[in-house]
Amino acid sequence: MTECLYQRDPECHRFESMVVEVRGEWLVLDRTAFYPGGGGQEPDRGTLSGMAVVEVRKDDGNILHKVPGHRFSVGDTVHGEIDWTRRCDLMKGHTGEHLLFSCLSRVSPELKLVKIAITSEKKSVIVGGELDWDRVALAERQVMDAIAQELPITERIVGRDDPYLTEARVKMERIHGESIRIIEIGDMDRAACSGVHVSNTREIGMLLVTGLTSARPVGDLEIEFEVGDRAKARASELAIMSLRAAEALGSTPNDLLGALGNMIGERERTAVALRRYGARALEDLVPSDINGIKLYSGIFESMDKKTVTEAATRFVRDRAACVLGTVSDRFMLVVACNPSIRVNCVEVLNKALERIGGRGGGKANFATGGAPMSVGAEEAMVAAIAAMTDGMMGSDI
Ligand SMILES: [Zn+2]
Repeated sequence: MTECLYQRDPECHRFESMVVEVRGEWLVLDRTAFYPGGGGQEPDRGTLSGMAVVEVRKDDGNILHKVPGHRFSVGDTVHGEIDWTRRCDLMKGHTGEHLLFSCLSRVSPELKLVKIAITSEKKSVIVGGELDWDRVALAERQVMDAIAQELPITERIVGRDDPYLTEARVKMERIHGESIRIIEIGDMDRAACSGVHVSNTREIGMLLVTGLTSARPVGDLEIEFEVGDRAKARASELAIMSLRAAEALGSTPNDLLGALGNMIGERERTAVALRRYGARALEDLVPSDINGIKLYSGIFESMDKKTVTEAATRFVRDRAACVLGTVSDRFMLVVACNPSIRVNCVEVLNKALERIGGRGGGKANFATGGAPMSVGAEEAMVAAIAAMTDGMMGSDI
């Protein structure tokens, strides 16, 4: 059974120990400061006598270290070194997560902790329940207060029936032993945890929420955050971005959300008007007569795909064909005909689109497709109309 130095002393990052078992690339030591991960936190990285430790995991009471290419044998003494910069970041993140969830629970008591991710790349908590930016901001301020108060982080081992547990965050169904390790942050939070933490909230430096997005399963929310120097750097970046966004909108940072709301409202009104004009333009379309059959054709600006395909469906209910295009930053084309007209619309569509680097598909009597750019849209339209006309001329109905 490996002696876990990280639990007694989370600050320990250099240690001597002895190899007690070799399992191929994996080593078991009599004692280790390498944290094997847990509670959402990634395992440590570092070296054993200069050889890289690329993976660490727990196996019953043993901690296994993966050291590719090692030549150690049982009985060898090794010098262990934890990648301390990385571990400090993870400990700050982990302790920050305790604080953040604790404060989020104060502003939103129904909140349930679903999942935690504390890695070098990402720090987040996934929660179930109601949350919005106002409440997140409130919790973030409480976290920052706790950091400023320099609260000590201590551990307490208690029995399963200890009345102390009534005020602790603990999921009894996850506790297998008789005793439970509780991590206390001053007197503001108590949570069951077997992980590694900083010893004072001061060490976190800063905690900044950087994201609030919906997570799977549906209804859960993911709150991303940064700690320490990364939080400071990100806060500066985000401040500059919001200043630039306000400048671009001709607003001030304080009025940014209002200005954005107005812009979104305006855009929605424009889209409604555009759809109305588009529908009218489609209704006014005069068909040409090809071999006694109607052919509707036209190219429109910024008309949405739904409006165009609905119009095409309507046109070809009668014995008619249509070639409809819409141009925005890309080009979209619909080629359709009544099933009684024997023209392969997919062929007509692709023949026209391939000239401008586009493609599409569908059924023989209803094809849609597009090209990534609107350049050449008119040329493709002309080609599609010509191919459709040829097809209709040859149609033996
Ligand atoms: Zn913890």
